[in-house]
Amino acid sequence: MTDAPRACVYLDHAATSWPKPPEVIDAVVAAMREQGANPGRGAYAMALAASRVVFEARRVCADLLGVPDSRDLFFTSGCTEACNLMLKGLLSPGDRVVVSSMEHNAVSRPLHALQQLGVRVDVVSADATGTMDAADVERAVRLAPTRAVVCQHASNVTGAIQPIADIADIAHENGALLLVDGAQGGGHLDVDLATLSVDAYALSGHKGMLGPQGVGLLYLRPGLEARELTQGGTGGGSSEDDAQPAGRPERYEAGTPNTPGIAGLGAGGRLLAANGAEWRAEEQRVFRILKAGLLELPGVRVYGPALDAPTVPVTCITHDSLEPDRIAFLLDRQAGVAVRSGLHCAPWAHRTIGTLGTGAVRLSVGHSTTETDVRIALAALAEVLG
Ligand code: PMP
Repeated sequence: MTDAPRACVYLDHAATSWPKPPEVIDAVVAAMREQGANPGRGAYAMALAASRVVFEARRVCADLLGVPDSRDLFFTSGCTEACNLMLKGLLSPGDRVVVSSMEHNAVSRPLHALQQLGVRVDVVSADATGTMDAADVERAVRLAPTRAVVCQHASNVTGAIQPIADIADIAHENGALLLVDGAQGGGHLDVDLATLSVDAYALSGHKGMLGPQGVGLLYLRPGLEARELTQGGTGGGSSEDDAQPAGRPERYEAGTPNTPGIAGLGAGGRLLAANGAEWRAEEQRVFRILKAGLLELPGVRVYGPALDAPTVPVTCITHDSLEPDRIAFLLDRQAGVAVRSGLHCAPWAHRTIGTLGTGAVRLSVGHSTTETDVRIALAALAEVLG
């Protein structure tokens, strides 16, 4: 037996949302208990039921994200795999990429690997709040032929929302693709891929989308094909030529899928379709109480957009004298407040805002965070910082 976790104020939704809604947990359990066969592989009743779970989850997510044809949305193991697929699948030696300085390791590390193969990577710096200026991207794109602009939708460090629609126009006017890491967008922003006009959009299924860990999504616009990362069984199309089937989504989904995870993501998507607007408004209200409180704490520096500026519900702080790791440790041990310190898998972002040397304490709220939670966290921080 393991110890039950202590009651806690959970402010780490940027890592993964918690607690998962009961509907999500029920869908995961049902996928194992009642629809436990392999989807797309067999015509008996339980295999068909499992196929329906995957089909429905894809449709729900497509509707939620403004994707007209759900076959343009592929399930992955998370946003990391989705970013790898969009970058490694679309970029080739000799290509030039313009990328924001706020990217997570899920983008910077695949780009580093691609650089070793001869892809040229030019980084455009965001401002001290972590926000990109589309004019800077335009200048960089015009410097040399560019295959793709790569930019996150929102920062997992400062909460900044990037001007994706403007950057899409700039990329397309200059013959480049726009590839977006939307890990912090899905669920926290009203993402409408029909109007955003991106070429690829990678998502986590387990953050704002409310699914369990181990699931994510990649949208690839119709007509744009990537080299698939993985070849293997797709449940059909077997032939003697050994080639991966070209059809969507199976081309990009080799191997037995994570049916329980996909079922949970589908349930999360359903909840967001019904309640997303209301939850996002409350998330923003509670986040602003948190950020306003942080701004009043003596010795604390708060990073990210101004209090009244658009943001996803994530921010970072540092303190004059107490190390970020120490703050996070004391918050947990003394008050059961869960936050994450360090570099948040985003050293580029911390370099951009000036915290690469120290790291910072990240506080992020989500669908389940209450005003009481953030008031407890603020009181605990005041106590810890003395
Ligand atoms: N990009 C960003 C901006 C993120 O915040 C994260 C998760 N921390 C990822 C990518 C990776 O997502 P996943 O955990 O789903 O692989």
